Amino acid sequence: MAEQTVQREKDLYIDGRWVPGGGADLEVENPATEEVTGVITQASPADVEAAVAAAGAAFAEWSATPVAERAAALRRVRAVIAERADVFADIIHREQGSPPKLARGLHVDTPLGVIDATVEALERFPFSGRIGNSEIRREPVGVVAAITPWNLPLHQVIVKVVPALAAGATVVLKPAGLTPLAAFELARAFDSAGLPAGVFNLVPGSGRVVGDQLTRHEGVDQVSFTGSTPVGRRIAGVAAETLTRVTLELGGKSASVVLADTSDELLAKAVKITVANCFLNGGQTCTALSRLVVPKGRLGQVEELAAAAAAKYEPGSRLGPLISAEQRKEVESFLAPGAGGRDAVAVTGPVALPDRGYFVAPTVVSRVDPDSRLAQEEVFGPVLSILTADSDDDAVAIANNSIYGLGGAVWSTDDDAALAVAGRLRTGQVDVNGAAFNPAAPFGGYKQSGTGREIGEYGIADVCEIKAVQR
Ligand code: NAP
Ligand code: MG
Repeated sequence: MAEQTVQREKDLYIDGRWVPGGGADLEVENPATEEVTGVITQASPADVEAAVAAAGAAFAEWSATPVAERAAALRRVRAVIAERADVFADIIHREQGSPPKLARGLHVDTPLGVIDATVEALERFPFSGRIGNSEIRREPVGVVAAITPWNLPLHQVIVKVVPALAAGATVVLKPAGLTPLAAFELARAFDSAGLPAGVFNLVPGSGRVVGDQLTRHEGVDQVSFTGSTPVGRRIAGVAAETLTRVTLELGGKSASVVLADTSDELLAKAVKITVANCFLNGGQTCTALSRLVVPKGRLGQVEELAAAAAAKYEPGSRLGPLISAEQRKEVESFLAPGAGGRDAVAVTGPVALPDRGYFVAPTVVSRVDPDSRLAQEEVFGPVLSILTADSDDDAVAIANNSIYGLGGAVWSTDDDAALAVAGRLRTGQVDVNGAAFNPAAPFGGYKQSGTGREIGEYGIADVCEIKAVQR
């Protein structure tokens, strides 16, 4: 077996320099091997103070930098990430456990697409408009604290940091403690792209300490958080004390809705794509289509198709591990008898799991009760629930029976019928008949999936204040 790489990161990136971190060391584990793959030094409270001060001091100049120069700087960052794409992919493979192909495609190529889309949006962004005798200006908010989760260690950072820098805001980043290593490589990319000192700062550390200090800090003008709904609630509460603006990208329980008229051919595609989407990244994506809602009369057909599709996700090759032992325990709790209601039944069987690593078997549970814990709570693992509907109206009601409202999908042989249902789903994203992810489209949720939008034009607007100047 190849010897594990142990990445050591003793220095933090603050005010354009690498400085020794003042906090305790933290080991980073590879969830596929359970071996230590990195050691970082966390930020101390003084490091966080220095980072916020640096971002505050850099704001005046960066916000006044012409759009073309900010765009050029972000293109240089993009070029460095593209040049080091294999390095990023290897880091993410080690710290997050993704299989190599996914670590490159999903984890690195997707954020590269987001940078492209955001820089293009910047070049035509309406920073100024007019209403009567008023000039309406959009001005960057100031210092943005970005707090990010472990499921997509680079992408979740890029979707916050790049629109903020594009707008002219400055950033202090606190990456997830379970996956901080990609953020260090990103700081090196910012450094070698020659971004002005203080525009981007990196302060790793725990959420309860570093994250909380940033959320309370009067020098932070906006907290942009991605993670769980409970932590999002807490951040919104803490930020309310200083009326600091918050962007929250939280959990989801997205539904893939198959309408009654769907042809057999489209049904097969719907099930295949829903399973792939639900199991992507080990089931650890916030937009996972984790509920498949199908016409009652098609259930037998759907169960067969879903079980066959799930069988292709072999743990250890195509299917990566969960992020931690704790997360595996949590996901397994959803597979206990009763979690899906009285009639729930698994249509997938047990499969061999690797000896090491936090793997779980890809699982499809059918006849799930729409009000059960399995149908209501985010699993964040490779577990798909199949629910049945009596009619298309019933299917819409089941899809909307959730505290969440992040993503969704609709399938119908009649495009107009599918588009009409897309309009009735209370979610921030809907994909019709398997349409592709658009890296320029606004991303965010309704209801308890959060508030605010990321990526592209809407991501830039999200970190801008609005000023009316009368003349
Ligand atoms: P999490 O526990 O909420 O943590 C997210 C980030 O917040 C981490 O950096 C964490 O730090 C930090 N944090 C924790 N407590 C904090 C506090 N009191 N104050 C400030 N920051 C704090 O979420 P996770 O377990 O990493 O990620 C899984 C969850 O994220 C899932 O529920 C998933 O749906 C959600 N998610 C949502 C989206 C979206 O775009 N909507 C995307 C991805 C994931 P440490 O963990 O380092 O201590
Ligand atoms: Mg957590």
